Amino acid sequence: MDPSILHELSRLDPAVPFRASTHHLHHTWAKTFFSRPELYLRPQSVPEIQQLVTLARRCRRRLVTVGSAHSPSDLTCTSSWLVNLDDFNRVLHVDSETGSVTVEAGIRLSELGVRLEEHGLALANLGSIDSQSIAGVITTGTHGSSLRHGLLSECIEALSLVLANGQLVRCSTTNNPALFRAALLSLGALGIIVEVTFKAKPSFNIAWRQERYSLARVLNDWSSGLWTSHEFVRVWWLPYEKGAIIWRADKTDLPLRAPPKNFYGERLGYHIYHNLLALSSYFPRILPWVEWFVFGMQYGFRAGSVVTEAVEPARTGLLMNCLFSQFVNEWALPLEKGPEAIGRLSAWLHGDAETARIPFPVQGLWVHCPVEVRVSDSTRNSNLRPFLDPTCREGPTLYLNATLYRAYSRDPPCRARYYEAFEWLMRDMGAKPHWAKNFTTTGPHELRERYGQDMDEWLTVRQEVDPDGMFVGEWHCRHLPLTPADDTPDPRERLPLLERERERRRPDISGAGDGIEWVGDRRWKTQPAQPFVDEKSTYELPPDHAPSPPTTATSEESFDLLAKGEASILLPEGSGRSQRA
Ligand SMILES: Cc1cc2nc3c(=O)[nH]c(=O)nc-3n(C[C@H](O)[C@H](O)[C@H](O)COP(=O)(O)OP(=O)(O)OC[C@H]3O[C@@H](n4cnc5c(N)ncnc54)[C@H](O)[C@@H]3O)c2cc1C
Repeated sequence: MDPSILHELSRLDPAVPFRASTHHLHHTWAKTFFSRPELYLRPQSVPEIQQLVTLARRCRRRLVTVGSAHSPSDLTCTSSWLVNLDDFNRVLHVDSETGSVTVEAGIRLSELGVRLEEHGLALANLGSIDSQSIAGVITTGTHGSSLRHGLLSECIEALSLVLANGQLVRCSTTNNPALFRAALLSLGALGIIVEVTFKAKPSFNIAWRQERYSLARVLNDWSSGLWTSHEFVRVWWLPYEKGAIIWRADKTDLPLRAPPKNFYGERLGYHIYHNLLALSSYFPRILPWVEWFVFGMQYGFRAGSVVTEAVEPARTGLLMNCLFSQFVNEWALPLEKGPEAIGRLSAWLHGDAETARIPFPVQGLWVHCPVEVRVSDSTRNSNLRPFLDPTCREGPTLYLNATLYRAYSRDPPCRARYYEAFEWLMRDMGAKPHWAKNFTTTGPHELRERYGQDMDEWLTVRQEVDPDGMFVGEWHCRHLPLTPADDTPDPRERLPLLERERERRRPDISGAGDGIEWVGDRRWKTQPAQPFVDEKSTYELPPDHAPSPPTTATSEESFDLLAKGEASILLPEGSGRSQRA
């Protein structure tokens, strides 16, 4: 470990463990990106988290928090310090009467589901998987598919964060509401979320049914019950088949009934599908046939020929099999625009340029399926909305997700052209990208326009709680107007801890396939050293501020004053802790 880190560490409270390792290889779940952080930190308590933030600030390092790394972009990549809260995952408080639950922020949804069930409780809604950490789910605006629910984070009542100065701050609708709205979708850029209080529902089972339909019928029923006849509805559009699978579910008191076996849920079908996708990278024109064969085997070759049903606890029944490594590119737009969006994309994929009105050629391009079609409605939510909530303010939201599988971690050849055209259509229709996913063509200024005042307010809060840019990196620069438009072209001048990308390269790692290794600029190596001689010279403390040990540095007060303070104690020179690697 860098001796200067050990030196700074020796000046902090020796009773607080510092659980750091070097040589960690980080990668996203889909193995789309890899990075090698200088330190990988696995804290187990709030004082440990506060201490590592203090240490990072003194050592001039950027901090990235990672949950389960299910965001497929380079959002969680860093060459600086990577913090993971997998060991900070306890359930702290459950009120079975009111359903109010407080957990440590590293808990995964799968574990949380089991723990809630022990108390007769459940999350009201889920996305396709439950591998994510609760903080990760909140931070990118994860959603399920139901017009009776908005983002998964709509059940959040309060959050506690450790800010860049090491201060622990709690926020909610009534307490620091601006920080709460910013933290409800923070993109990891505000601080480290350490505790989450949310409202759970009494646990419930769902009865689900899925069946194949023609696309024409789906579009015909779009406004007459498709999305409203059941509490949970999702559609998988099969573009070459001009068909769709509709999955519908409702709460039920029926006895549990396990789902039947299915083609690609079993080992043989799974490998057949995987290998067909791999083959299609060399012979893309087989993809319509692959769609016909695989989805025929899975759901029947004709509309209505096979109906699959089951009754399951919601915590498992709402999930689905996401199969292989994948790129996902998902956008949110008004639900009523769905038929036009799907109609135009369908026309484009079938070579009908006149109907499509998408100015990119499609000749020789073959894509994967399904296109996921899901919904939510945040207008029913009486809680505060996140500033960066991509869902519609005025009515229900449609999500279109163009999935591309990466068979054996290889990128499919259609990716760049398909996504260019798909994103063009989405932008043409006024859609907003899902923050976690693989969007590429929107820049900070376009997103500022789309979010307007909400983006400005988010940026204001962000800047206030993290003035040096300890929690931001290249991904944030690419998508967010972190510094004013008329500012210097290099945001590093304003945000001294901001981490920029130095290069992308093919990793020398077996099994990495077409994954990319992301390398940051490691500014601390090139910048002139800025030793911490005296904390007070760096942060302007309010007149009555007394630095406090991390364990007691909790505040229910306004965070703006506190952000300027120093939340930890500096030990006198020479009285330090033993150095640990
Ligand atoms: C197979 C698959 C299925 C998916 N299904 C859905 C779906 O149905 N609906 C949907 O909307 N999305 C879906 N997603 C996206 C997924 O829900 C998001 O990417 C989510 O953010 C992942 O959570 P995570 O714990 O892995 O977070 P990570 O990917 O590790 O991190 C995401 C962001 O959260 C930040 N973060 C993590 N922990 C903290 C913390 N404690 N404090 C502050 N910031 C933190 C990170 O810095 C980063 O900015 C899916 C992704 C995959 C791979």
